[in-house]
Formats: sequence, C-alpha cells, structure tokens
Amino acid sequence: MEDRDSQHLSPACSDQLLRVSEEPVKMLIDGQWTESEHSETFPIKNPATGEIIDTVPKGTREDIRHAVDAAYDAFPKWSATLAVERARLLFRLAILMRETQDELSSTLTKEQGKPVSESAGELIRFADLCEYYGGLATKLRGATQNISNQSIYCDVLRQPVGVVGAIIPWNFPVSLFGFKLAPALAAGNTVIVKPASTTPLTDLKIGELVDKAGIPKGVVNIVTGPGSVVGQELSENEKVRKITFTGETGTGKAIMEACAKSVKRVTLELGGSDPMIVCDDADLEIAVEAAVWGRFRNCGQSCTAVKRLFIFKNVYDSFLKKLTESVHRIKIGNGLDPATLMGPLNNESQRKEIEQQVEDAKQRGAEVITGGERPAGKDFENGYFYLPTLLRNVADGSAIAKEECFGPVLPIFIINSLNEGIEMANSTTYGLGASIWTTNLITARIAAEKLEAGTVWINSPPITRIEVPFGGFKQSGLGRELGTEGLDAYLEPKTIQVDVSGKKKTWQFFR
Ligand code: NDP
Repeated sequence: MEDRDSQHLSPACSDQLLRVSEEPVKMLIDGQWTESEHSETFPIKNPATGEIIDTVPKGTREDIRHAVDAAYDAFPKWSATLAVERARLLFRLAILMRETQDELSSTLTKEQGKPVSESAGELIRFADLCEYYGGLATKLRGATQNISNQSIYCDVLRQPVGVVGAIIPWNFPVSLFGFKLAPALAAGNTVIVKPASTTPLTDLKIGELVDKAGIPKGVVNIVTGPGSVVGQELSENEKVRKITFTGETGTGKAIMEACAKSVKRVTLELGGSDPMIVCDDADLEIAVEAAVWGRFRNCGQSCTAVKRLFIFKNVYDSFLKKLTESVHRIKIGNGLDPATLMGPLNNESQRKEIEQQVEDAKQRGAEVITGGERPAGKDFENGYFYLPTLLRNVADGSAIAKEECFGPVLPIFIINSLNEGIEMANSTTYGLGASIWTTNLITARIAAEKLEAGTVWINSPPITRIEVPFGGFKQSGLGRELGTEGLDAYLEPKTIQVDVSGKKKTWQFFR
C-alpha cells in the first residue's frame, strides 16, 4: 500500500505518459469532473509491460467529504424517483456498457492485466447486473402483517438505506463495481465508489456512462486515492449509512471496526481458500478442465478460485497427469494479444507474496510439478508474470495451505476418503466456496451439507450467478450479494403500526 501511495509524478514527467485517455483523468463528484483537492495525482501501470499508462487524482479526505455531501443531498430526490424511472436509467446504462464494450475491455486489460476476452466478460456482467436489478426495482414488495388484535394492522415498508460507500478491489474492478452499484441504485440509494488504486481507469470511464445515461448528479460519485485515506474516511463518515466492500479479510476487519463507530450497515466479501474435492468416480476429463479454469483464470486472482485441490488416492496419478498436460497448454502473455489465456499478476506486491508462499511451501517439503518461477524471455521481463504452478506434497502447516493464495499456484493433496477431504477442506478460517466432483448424488449431497462454504458447486467450476445469493461463511465475509438478497442488503425494513379502531383505550403497564 505504501509503495502505491508514494508513487508520484511531477507534472513534467506526466506529460510523457502513454495515456489511455486523451484528457487528464478526473474524479466524478456531484456531477462534475474534478481534480483532487491538492491537484495531486498518482500513476497507473500496465502490469504486462510495467509502463505508466495514465495518472489519476489522488483524492483526499476532503474530496470524500465533498462526495458524501453530494450523495447526501441527492438522496431525497433519488429515493423518491419512481422505481420505473430508476429501472429505465439502469437499462440505459446497460445499453451504453454494451456499446462501449470494445474500448472499455482494452482499458481494463491495460490496467488489470487480464486477457481481453475476460475483460469483455466483466463488462457484460456489469450490463447484466444493471438489467437484473433494474428489473427488480419495479418489483420491490413490502408486507402487511396480520396480528391478533383485529383493529391494528402493521405495514412493513422497505426503504433505501441512504448514502452507500462501495469499496472495489483490483481483481474484478468492473463486475464487482456492478455487484454493488446496480442493487444500490435500484433500491434508491446514492453511492460513492472508491476504486482500487491499481485499477481505477475503467471505473472512471463507467462514470462517464453513468453521466450519459442521465443518472442525476450526485447519485453516483467516484473518488480515487489511497484506501488508507479515502477508504478510511468513507468508512468513518457519519453521513454514510452503509459500506459494501470486497477485498482482503484484514482490510475488511479494519473497515468493520471503522464502521462500528457510527453503526453502519456492512456487506463484506472477503478472502477465500476454496477447496475442490475430486472423488474416484468423477468424470476426470471435465474435472481437470474445471480445475484449470477455476485456478488460473484471471491469473488466479479470484476470490472463488480453486485454491486447494484434494484428489482421491486411486485417481491421483491419472488426474495429475492430465492436469499437468492441460496446464502446459496455458499460453501466458500480454492480455491484449487474443491468443493469451493468462496475463500477469496485477501488481508487484502480489507477485512477491506468491513467490513467498511458494518458497515457504518448498522449504516445508513441497515439490514443484510445473512452474514455480517467473517466465523467462523478453516479453515477460517488465511485467508481473508468474508461471502457472502445481505443487504436491504440501505440508499442512504451509502458508499456502492456510492463507489465501491469490495467484496462479495450485497446491494438491491426496485424500483417502470423503470425510478426510471434507475435514481438510474445512480446516481454514475461510468459507467462501467449495466444489465437489462425483457422479454419486448421495456423496455430492453429503459433501454439500458438510462443507463450510457460502456456495458449494457440484460438478461445476466456481461460477457466480447473478440470480442467487453469494457470500462467505466464517471469515470470508458478512452478508450476501447477488440475487434478491443482494437487493435486500440495500434496504431497511420499516414497520408502521396503525390502530384503526378509533376507540378510546387504557393501556396497562406490564407487571
Ligand atoms: P485490499 O483489501 O487492501 O484492497 C481492496 C480495496 O480496499 C481497495 O480499493 C483498497 O484501496 C481499499 N482499502 C485498503 N485499505 C483500506 C482501508 N483502510 N479502508 C478502506 N478501504 C481500504 O486488497 P489489496 O489490494 O491490498 O490485496 C491484498 C490481498 O487481498 C490479495 O493478496 C488478496 O489475497 C486479497 N484480495 C482478495 C480479494 C477477494 O476478492 N477475495 C480481492 C482483492 C484482494 P487501495 O487500492 O487504494 O489500497
């Protein structure tokens, strides 16, 4: 974090940038494109080449306060806007996203590193989310409760929470923006978005589309800058009623603590160390491809990536052989090359962490089946590349078996029974997702019930679906995103009790 915060450019140096945008990039506050309070900026690097591709404003606490005031002022009108109008605006935003998909995909790849096809997938996901929650906006229902006293009825309304702070990570800067923005707006809240400091450019371009779609000023604000400053202010500011955050568990805990001071609502999507169990009756061909996709897409930087693989002993050798062959087919390179299947890691500190985890595992006896180092060659020398890596004989106490491994490294373990697999799978503090591969329905069902995870996939790679709730058990999070639960998270129930008897009464004190 310190590294990123301290990367400053002098104005002279910034003139020589290979800019993604023609105009200097600004933040969106109260419908105005604005510099930071002190006009300071910080650079954004292309993780495949190490080149600085643009600079963005280095927002301050004062900039956040300004954005919070704008969102606060915009809230009464926006929350009173007809749901059908909010829906129309979200549909319009979805159309604009689809129309600008090519330009935005390339920007996303340049700042994040992922292959352009994966970037395009993120943009489509954002548009899908706007359509899904736009549709739900007009179907929001409260309830009337029958209670025993016939002359009293109770209405339960569902009202928007208020000003929402959305803190976005760098692994899925666009789709996770959509996870938060679409339900928050559909429910009638106003929003301040804080993008990750290595990937703010596409999010800011989405801000232009928000403007173009006709979403009123102040309803969506985007402020860039260090999490320790702007993210912290957002979490502490009393006018902000809810924080929705995706990122590291430690950061989530700090945010929760800051939010406690003003009893903010929080939705936290945190780290995971998702297990994949392969039983001896599984379709190995399909399971191998699912493991490869599940671990190595987005260079392993997905919260629900397959982070530990447990294989039944009698299929271990054959599975490993097929897996290794498949991993050797992954073409790594610059994400802008359409042939690339895996790009670089997003930043240098991420690569260092992966290298430390691999080193620690090796020192405790792990064997590298393939990878375990940076790729050689001119194309890779300036980017944050790391080879897709398979490890076996990994000791239980290794960091990679316990902590979240957020990169292209897969530790593989042998198991002798389903119970052993489940026990090992559950042996971390995380509980985001888990997958089981078997053709036996009973085995699958037993495992699904016992695995401590917010989502269990049976014979499926870890794909999140918009229509169903997503979130973590244990230290993987709090609350749910997606599905109707994802909308509920931006609403407060309000009970109204009405006495329609019109009679004079006496009320007894309870004894
Ligand atoms: P963080 O959790 O620190 O960052 C995520 C977001 O939170 C960023 O926008 C960041 O801003 C912001 N932030 C940081 N500190 C604060 C704070 N005190 N208050 C409010 N907001 C804050 O993740 P990192 O980028 O540091 O990545 C570290 C590790 O996190 C990875 O190795 C990975 O294990 C895990 N991770 C997990 C993700 C998941 O989906 N499960 C997603 C991303 C990371 P800024 O960028 O300015 O620091």
